[in-house]
Amino acid sequence: MTSLYQPSRDELTTLLDGEPRYRLDQIWQGLYQQYSTPAEMTNLPKALRAKLAEALTPALQVVVRRVSDGGDTVKYLWELHDGRRIETVLMLYPDRVTVCVSSQVGCAMGCGFCATGQAGFGRHLTVGEIVEQVAMAAREARSMDRRLGNVVFMGMGEPLANEAVVWESVERLHDDLGISARKLTISTVGLVPGIRRLTERPLPVNLAVSLHAANDRLRDELVPINKRYPIDELMAACADYLAVKGRRLSFEWAMIDGVNDRPIDATELAKLCRRFRLPAHVNLIPLNPTPGYPTVGSPLKRVHEFRDKLEALGVNATVRRNRGADIDAACGQLAAGQPVAISQSRASVRGSGPQPSGTD
Ligand code: SAH
Ligand code: SF4
Repeated sequence: MTSLYQPSRDELTTLLDGEPRYRLDQIWQGLYQQYSTPAEMTNLPKALRAKLAEALTPALQVVVRRVSDGGDTVKYLWELHDGRRIETVLMLYPDRVTVCVSSQVGCAMGCGFCATGQAGFGRHLTVGEIVEQVAMAAREARSMDRRLGNVVFMGMGEPLANEAVVWESVERLHDDLGISARKLTISTVGLVPGIRRLTERPLPVNLAVSLHAANDRLRDELVPINKRYPIDELMAACADYLAVKGRRLSFEWAMIDGVNDRPIDATELAKLCRRFRLPAHVNLIPLNPTPGYPTVGSPLKRVHEFRDKLEALGVNATVRRNRGADIDAACGQLAAGQPVAISQSRASVRGSGPQPSGTD
């Protein structure tokens, strides 16, 4: 038994031993174009549907589906086959639809300000578990007459700590779900060997680096893995990635009140970009509250001042709108650990016709 989106096309062929060749295409289309379960693939003979339904089971069972921003943000809490839990966030914007996916249960990197980091590491996700998050989001988007076009690996976990699996998922999303490389973004805390491996991979995906500080003293404190891969090494790896891929590089900067939001922090960051000739784009997000971190996010006024200072120093910067903070779906708030009321849940995202709005 395997999960729906785990097997590659070749692996599925072995499962279909004895069936005519075109069945493989039908099933592949069912999974990757219709986002259907085998039971829903009514173009297949009943016996084959039953056989497939036994061999291929969904990896994700929805526990809670919560909606905010007037229906434009949907957070799913999924349970995996071993009872572990992860979260996925679907975001609808006027001009695009984006899904934020998890790559691990929990995270081992221990950034103190992040709810996932506070929960500690559970395990790596599989290809099937990652791809199914995207397929389910695409299915829901389609039910709202929208097309999912963007995938960001900014959910739970550190994608480059699970690089091989994340890469196989990226290829599946690109080749089979039809998401273009330009619309795929991997966010990393700064694992230099992972960035180096990514540099050698064929598809030019976007790289987002969670920087948060431009000197090692402060970054060591905020992002403990910086002690292993300090800023200069990280910047050199980013510069190489950019040189090879020619893709957009962005820095994430969670703005923490009185910690990394001072004018000197902006000056340091601008200097760092200049020193490594990195035309990076900086995304500023006021720190979202999490249970285990006492310091609060910067007031919006300071966030804007910080942006203006960066811009004046020649660094592109945007203030990111916070999505889903009221349902703990915003950056760094995904923990999947809270005991949840089953009454909030929907029986299944599949088949039950997801609703575009409401407050489940
Ligand atoms: N592990 C990866 C990707 C998941 S975290 C990484 O760290 O990049 C996704 C983003 O949310 C990262 O930029 C992370 O720094 C940011 N983040 C974590 N906790 C946050 C919080 N409390 N408020 C705002 N952003 C946060
Ligand atoms: Fe892990 Fe990213 Fe959270 Fe750090 S910010 S603990 S790397 S998920």
